[in-house]
Amino acid sequence: MYRDTPHAIHLKDYRPPEFLIDAVDLRFDLDPERTTVEAKLALRRNPAATRGDGDLRLHGEQLDLERIAVNGHPLTPSEYEVHQEGLTLHRVPDQFGLETRVRIHPSLNTALEGLYQSGEMLCTQCEAEGFRRITYFLDRPDVMATYSTTLVADKRRFPVLLSNGNPVESRDLDGGRHLMRWEDPFPKPSYLFALIAGDLKAVEDSFSTASGREVALKIYVEPHNLDKCDHAMRSLKKAMRWDEERFGREYDLDIFMIVAVSHFNMGAMENKGLNVFNDKFVLARPDTATDVDFDGIESVIAHEYFHNWTGNRITCRDWFQLSLKEGFTVYRDQEFSADVGSRGVKRIGDVRLLRAHQLPEDEGPLAHPVRPDSYIEINNFYTATVYQKGAEVVRMQANLLGPELFRKATDLYFERHDGQAVTTDDFVRCMEDASGRDLEQFRLWYQQAGTPELSVQEAFDADSGRYSLSVRQHTPPTPGQPLKEPFHIPIAVGLLGQDGEDLPLQLEGDTTPSAPGTRVLELTNSEQSFTFVGLEAKPVPSLLRGFPAPVKLKTEASDDDLLFLMAHDSDGFNRWDAAQTLMQRLLLALVDDAEAELPERFFAAFEQALMDAQSDKALLAEVLTPPSEGYLGDQMAVVDVDGIHRAHSVLGRRVGERLRDALLEVYRANDGSEPYAFMPDDVGRRALKNLALGYLAKAGDAEALAAAQAQFEAARNMTDVMAALRLLVDHGGEAGTRALDHFYGRWSGEPLVVDKWLSVQATSPREDTLERVIALMGHADFSLRNPNRVRSLIGAFCNANQVRFHASDGRGYRFLADRVLELNPLNPQIAARLLKAMVRWRRFDAGRQALMRAEIARILDAEALSADVYEVASKALGD
Ligand code: ZN
Repeated sequence: MYRDTPHAIHLKDYRPPEFLIDAVDLRFDLDPERTTVEAKLALRRNPAATRGDGDLRLHGEQLDLERIAVNGHPLTPSEYEVHQEGLTLHRVPDQFGLETRVRIHPSLNTALEGLYQSGEMLCTQCEAEGFRRITYFLDRPDVMATYSTTLVADKRRFPVLLSNGNPVESRDLDGGRHLMRWEDPFPKPSYLFALIAGDLKAVEDSFSTASGREVALKIYVEPHNLDKCDHAMRSLKKAMRWDEERFGREYDLDIFMIVAVSHFNMGAMENKGLNVFNDKFVLARPDTATDVDFDGIESVIAHEYFHNWTGNRITCRDWFQLSLKEGFTVYRDQEFSADVGSRGVKRIGDVRLLRAHQLPEDEGPLAHPVRPDSYIEINNFYTATVYQKGAEVVRMQANLLGPELFRKATDLYFERHDGQAVTTDDFVRCMEDASGRDLEQFRLWYQQAGTPELSVQEAFDADSGRYSLSVRQHTPPTPGQPLKEPFHIPIAVGLLGQDGEDLPLQLEGDTTPSAPGTRVLELTNSEQSFTFVGLEAKPVPSLLRGFPAPVKLKTEASDDDLLFLMAHDSDGFNRWDAAQTLMQRLLLALVDDAEAELPERFFAAFEQALMDAQSDKALLAEVLTPPSEGYLGDQMAVVDVDGIHRAHSVLGRRVGERLRDALLEVYRANDGSEPYAFMPDDVGRRALKNLALGYLAKAGDAEALAAAQAQFEAARNMTDVMAALRLLVDHGGEAGTRALDHFYGRWSGEPLVVDKWLSVQATSPREDTLERVIALMGHADFSLRNPNRVRSLIGAFCNANQVRFHASDGRGYRFLADRVLELNPLNPQIAARLLKAMVRWRRFDAGRQALMRAEIARILDAEALSADVYEVASKALGD
């Protein structure tokens, strides 16, 4: 907590560490109330660093120092200084051993950084700067050491004691205590350290690597959750095989462990050999978890596993390079999910996510480059830009190089930088060196914030058969970056003939003939023209196929062209995108005038898509899902909260009424009760039938509501149960209340299912939702100390219920600000993240602007604001 204004840290100030730590020997005497940590560090001066004043400055926060010695000699108080953020030792030798003993207090640690208590277990979270809450250290990622960790604890209370690496010793001690020692042979930065102590049980399996080594796999959970680990284990083995095949990466230790923890600030953490997970991303049974949950588990398990090479073996030089590991690892987990599931549906989901979170971030007051150049609190930079846009930037390089050269480049990266702490620039250099391409301009994607806007003008000359696309790019200013250089933008295009078939893409000046399909144009100037030759008639362009770059296209396509693309484009992504643009136009027309007629050909296209028995059902469900209320708001000059909500209801109702028969038929044809399987076809079938049921329910169709009630009662899988519950709750009345009570009665013993019960209420558009949310905060199952509960209730209300959170009376804003202030001293990371729901206040009308600004100002005025909340609030107000 700060009294003075927290200060920013700048990339340009990076200096190599003056000291290095080669080896760490830790001994923990574990107790939730008071844990003792003894550390022995082998330190030496860094030959690569310029010499400073000779002092050694170690990070350390909230540590009670009990003993400190250099080379075995205890120091006198005059030989060191302890301050708020660490410890300074004057005039130390060039090479020496440092011993410290500190006391820490896990049970009081509500920030969930460092060593903390979750239920009956003890666990750690060290990324980004949590290790300094465990012991005095050079807590920065470019200091890599080998670790030996001894854990001592009461054997009955904590029978399982885990840390990174391999177990090397285990024995009983006096007084009912026992000891375990772990050694991690791979040098790592401190943020990858982890320990776990608890009464846990493991599901065990094994994996034989490509080179024939056996790896023991263990997933540790509380005993009653042992029946919810199968999917996680299957996902892990798939991910391990895939990384060998696709990237040539083999696992390197003899044991790989995952632990599920119920108090966790983020999704999961890639600690070396000991991944620690939010239990939400481990535990699943068909009756407790939805398809979305199964999907999330598969990708997060893969993501953390993939970090073993992209993050752990090769790590970040400093936290400005966070996207080096996160962007690349997200790209890898996206590709994994595409390969083991459905590539087209995966891409649509990823772009939906990018548009919902990253584009708004990139045009708001918290906009920052993929490689930021300053931060106040690094925890605020685990963002959609660093993760999702970072993945797009890797994807563009992969596509520019093509599969063979990209593989050559990643091989080079792994070989050249294994064991090092490096930068995004080092990554790009590997791409250049392996391919011979010059990516100098491309590097701007890491340096410039903001989303380029593309506008395209077409011209066709019937006499010469020439068709040209003139493309302009413009990137609006972002905080601290008023002027932007043009980006290097790959633009994948196709041209459709009148029959809907792809035409050959012969560019003027091509020496060889070109095949029909997709061609990548490279835009490097602010304005550039591309001319195709040999066309008999004006084609319909299919631009940005597969979403080749994180840009916004200002499309001028006519509704007819969009309908044509939706029906014929050989690129599934663009069929979806055309449908989205069309629906967006209809919805915005309804915002202007709720009585506006919807064109007949829209219903015809919708019905035709629905009745196409051949089509991929998951893809179809995506095509027929309208853009969200939040996304529509992003497309307006001023967000019309109520108009958008009304338009959404009107569109849903009219589709439900007009296409009643087709929707009912689709619902019935896809409603089955065969045993649950998490297979792409089944997932698609459930998505489609629940979408159909949703449209019918919006129309208030009695048969549909009866079907929802029946589905709620009969379904054995959580996907169908939740879909039905949502419809019943949103429809309101007795049936909704009864369903909620019944659901809670059935699942009150499963916290992750109770989260769904909270969310479905928090996201309901019913008028009394805020009252409900406030009442639920008093429920016995709710706790501000558990981030999953906070996200499920408060986060869901503020981020996934635009019409109620942004109610014009400002009560939603006051509610959020109150929660931020309550969470600020408890868990600053979560408090700051919640506050982000209000940072785009300038996008709303004057009344709402004033209300939000006042709440943010009230937060800024509060005493003892954390650096986390201070940074978000002050940047939100723009000072
Ligand atoms: Zn990650």
